[in-house]
Amino acid sequence: GFKTGIVGLPNVGKSTLFNALTRTAAAQAANFPFCTIEPNVGEVAVPDPRLDRLAEIAGSKQTIPTRMTFVDIAGLVKGASKGEGLGNQFLANIRECDAVAHVLRCFEDGDVTHVEGRVDPVADAEVIETELMIADMESIEKRLQGLVRKVRGGDKEAVQQERLLKVALAALNEGRPARSVEIAEDDEKAWSMLQLLTSKPVLYVCNVSEEEAASGNAFSRAVAAMAEAQGAASVVISAKIEEEISQLDAEEAEVFLGEMGLEEAGLDRLIKAGYTLLDLETYFTVGPKEARAWTIPVGTSAPKAAGVIHGDFERGFIRAETVAFDDYIACGGEQGAKDAGKMRAEGKGYVVQDGDVMHFLFNA
Ligand code: GDP
Repeated sequence: GFKTGIVGLPNVGKSTLFNALTRTAAAQAANFPFCTIEPNVGEVAVPDPRLDRLAEIAGSKQTIPTRMTFVDIAGLVKGASKGEGLGNQFLANIRECDAVAHVLRCFEDGDVTHVEGRVDPVADAEVIETELMIADMESIEKRLQGLVRKVRGGDKEAVQQERLLKVALAALNEGRPARSVEIAEDDEKAWSMLQLLTSKPVLYVCNVSEEEAASGNAFSRAVAAMAEAQGAASVVISAKIEEEISQLDAEEAEVFLGEMGLEEAGLDRLIKAGYTLLDLETYFTVGPKEARAWTIPVGTSAPKAAGVIHGDFERGFIRAETVAFDDYIACGGEQGAKDAGKMRAEGKGYVVQDGDVMHFLFNA
């Protein structure tokens, strides 16, 4: 599955957010740095109202949303790249993630200690980015040394790796993260295998006070401007509100959101933003037993999409029968779509589109 690592300085609200996200009661939120020592991993359902509509039309007994994984990564402080403050564990955990959700403290509260003694989310973002950049530079230098022999021997992979590492190092030396480097399509796979910390897409999560959840504040606007300049994304959230919502049932939550002047739970926006950040989309399988959502990267071919359900579906792929979500709804379901000529037979070359309702035909 796809993994987003939640990072940030201590006491910015990571654990509060993570616990709300995963609806775990085991809140580790406490007012001192380093309370989240073990990386916590949680699976989150990706909210998608289309799934319920499909299930309703098809009379499916249950719905199974697609899921995303969030990892709560222990607090990072200045000097982490030097191994202080759980730094190495932190870096190893980030390396395994596909994207980074960077929680920034945008709330004032004299009772909650700030490790740097002031609220300044843009500066906080720089502290962490700097640590990650230093860690990348050090690991690149080491890896370059390790490649010397192979490169001399003419090993093609090593030559490609060396070239990419040098491009990344040049950017880092200029003070830019690795994700600012433009990568040719032929290099994309090798590039992502390098697992550079600053090459992961970043989503800034502005944790604001409950009163400012709907409006945002000057801090969150400064973060939004920074994100835009970097080509990153940002969302405004109140971890405290999300914590409260996570303890309510769906109906109560809706009333509560209305009272706070919010249209949608911040977590839903956060999950969706993560999905967009990772360039993911959803297709559906719909039957009387279940309606189910599946996650694929944008641009996935039909056989590869089938492989998400089961490897046999990909290996024995014959063809797919597919109806676009809008057609499915407009025609009142599968039979209606068939009658209207909206169900298409697609072969191996078909690129699955967001919202497609799919049937796969395969050789067992
Ligand atoms: P972490 O170290 O980043 O995981 O931070 P925690 O989630 O443990 O939060 C640290 C402290 O800040 C806890 O006492 C939380 O209750 C508090 N906190 C988190 N979010 C907010 C917020 O939006 N407003 C206020 N006032 N306190 C918050």
